[in-house]
Amino acid sequence: MGIKGNEHEYEILVSEILGCTRCPLHTSRTKAVPGEGPLNASVMFVGEAPGRSEDLEGRPFVGSAGKLLDSLLSSIGVERSSVYITNVVKCRPPGNREPSDEEVRACNGYLRRQISIIKPRVIVALGRIAGRTLYEMAGLRWSSIRSARGRVVRVKLEGVDVMLTVTYHPAAALYNPGLREELEGDFREVIAPLIKGASVARKPTLEDFLR
Ligand code: SF4
Repeated sequence: MGIKGNEHEYEILVSEILGCTRCPLHTSRTKAVPGEGPLNASVMFVGEAPGRSEDLEGRPFVGSAGKLLDSLLSSIGVERSSVYITNVVKCRPPGNREPSDEEVRACNGYLRRQISIIKPRVIVALGRIAGRTLYEMAGLRWSSIRSARGRVVRVKLEGVDVMLTVTYHPAAALYNPGLREELEGDFREVIAPLIKGASVARKPTLEDFLR
């Protein structure tokens, strides 16, 4: 399917998410948060769930954890606008609690379709819930974020060959200097080389098709 076909499929996906009532989280959300970024992005970041600011704005990672993510990206020379950013669940759990297994399952089809449309070469899972969800989607056994973080695994997700890595969620590192140091180390030593490798093999843009 060409880029234009993908755009159409993506628009349908976004409108389904915005009107979704598949799990109880729809009753307390202000806005569902599908995700954002270019559809030809080589790199996808997957967090846990929208928080308060995200729920109000309808955009992912716009609160204080989002600001930390922006600064981590800029520390490795990556523009936020060049990557696709989403969450495992698209609606805010009340009080920022963790999403339940049922909610993650109910929402999982949307993440699968995002991967199938965007076909990222690299996925960075932010936090335990995102790491566990993506490991399970890839048929891998999840033990803990401590053992998964900093490792890169080659997996197939929705028929797409992906290099998957897991690090801490920026929200967990906001008030924990030790975790923040490890998170910065993962961005520098693991995520930066992965992104560099993915962008060397650049994916075609709409302009390529129009040339
Ligand atoms: S969290 Fe996902 S499954 Fe639940 S209502 Fe929102 S979009 Fe639908």
